Amino acid sequence: MNIQVNQLGYTPEMTKTAVMRGNLGQELQVLNAAGETVLTVPVAAEREKIWDDDVVVVDFSALREKGVFTLRCGEETSYPFVVSETPYEQVLMALVDMFYYQRCGGEVDERAGVHAHPACHTGLGRVYGTEEYIEVSGGWHDAGDYGRYIVPAAKSVADLLLAWQWNPAALEKTNLTSLLPEVRWELEWMLKMQRQDGAVYHKASCARFCGMIMPHEEQEEIIVSPVSTTATGDFAAGMAMASRFYQASDPAFAEKMKQAAIRAWDWLVEAEPMLFRNPEGISTGGYGDRSDEDERLWAAVELAITCGDEKYLTYAAKGIAQQERTWAPLGWGDMRGYVALEGMQLDGELGDICRQWVVDAARRMLERVNAYGITMTERLPWGSNMNISNDGMIFYQAWKLTGEEKFRQAAEKQLHYLLGVNPVSYCYVSCYGTNPMLHPHHRPSVATGVCVPGLLSGGAAGGMMDAVAREHLQGAPAGKCFVDHHGSYSTNEICVYWNSPMVALLSGVMGA
Ligand SMILES: [Zn+2]
Repeated sequence: MNIQVNQLGYTPEMTKTAVMRGNLGQELQVLNAAGETVLTVPVAAEREKIWDDDVVVVDFSALREKGVFTLRCGEETSYPFVVSETPYEQVLMALVDMFYYQRCGGEVDERAGVHAHPACHTGLGRVYGTEEYIEVSGGWHDAGDYGRYIVPAAKSVADLLLAWQWNPAALEKTNLTSLLPEVRWELEWMLKMQRQDGAVYHKASCARFCGMIMPHEEQEEIIVSPVSTTATGDFAAGMAMASRFYQASDPAFAEKMKQAAIRAWDWLVEAEPMLFRNPEGISTGGYGDRSDEDERLWAAVELAITCGDEKYLTYAAKGIAQQERTWAPLGWGDMRGYVALEGMQLDGELGDICRQWVVDAARRMLERVNAYGITMTERLPWGSNMNISNDGMIFYQAWKLTGEEKFRQAAEKQLHYLLGVNPVSYCYVSCYGTNPMLHPHHRPSVATGVCVPGLLSGGAAGGMMDAVAREHLQGAPAGKCFVDHHGSYSTNEICVYWNSPMVALLSGVMGA
């Protein structure tokens, strides 16, 4: 496929861009369902060389009528796409329902079809290196595996709550769940991971990854790994943030989270950095870090907003002043983007500084975008689709702050990329689009032979980090390092914290 379109379509008002590969012709025709040309757009002569192709971007935003269309240039025709007021409603619901499919410690009921299963991982967890057993059931399975990890959990919760803040109407009801009750499923588990003294255990998982079985079939002992300052900082931040969102519907639950956040903070300020490494005998996801300063700062910011105490504000002000405020990463390792996005709620100059931070970060990102509209060209990391969704969130917020169209268009282009305007012509959300990802590294999808819908693939990742990638992708440029194969965990795993920023991006764009 040499004409890449958003396979789920566009709204009438949206920026509509396609990326074409090679010299197909000098004009692009937009054809309606009857095959009639409804719009002709000239194709620029200049090409951008990227990922071994000469490509050109074609803007057909002048197409405002609704219907089903294809693009044609020379002999090539694109996949069909719709223009409608609601092209993304179904995919957004599926992206949120993914969290229901990932539920641990409770039944996933018959509405999930072949993916239904009884409560899993319900046994007590043994605290690593002790004979102490604690109750840690619940939460979401992190990814293609069945571990549950605090650090990425906090990112997922923060993204989903931002999505709710940006566009609650779009998230009220999905096919299987709705947003705030679903996030609570995770929050209730996180609360169980806090130790009496306020510190938070890093993760709950079996000692090693299991085979491609359903979750209730994994019967190994659950081990609760040691506490870390990154997990405790992220926990404090997530709990303090979440308590504001549940204040109206359940003040007691909100208070419980606030107190948990305060206890985590009180432990944290006295603690030297404890950066997590898998202890001996444990080989599940590590989510290690080089620094816990960003987690501490994010916690201070959220506690300052929620509690208003001077001590949190002082810590937040000092930390924000020390930052180089030209980029705003949204985790899971570096949480400074949440400092910027959430710090906007602080009063006075501090709020102004954070707003400027978001806008400056977005401007800096815009300087780097390529023909596909994304900021990464040379190197796409494992889970690049998370970075692309994260970038979309920053572009969206910069647009809200400035009203500058270029930021709105940039946010939309991140979405277009994820849904089809990419060099491998995939819709990276499982079971959606004309050419969807269907074979993720995801145990329930592999065990049943049926792909769970609404999973965002990690996407193209250079570096040949698994055997399947090495077999299929040798010599491929970074943007094309993707294989829709369940064995390629480095290009085609799925994660709760990859779906979550896409939910936020999509919610924002749909409400724009
Ligand atoms: Zn489970």
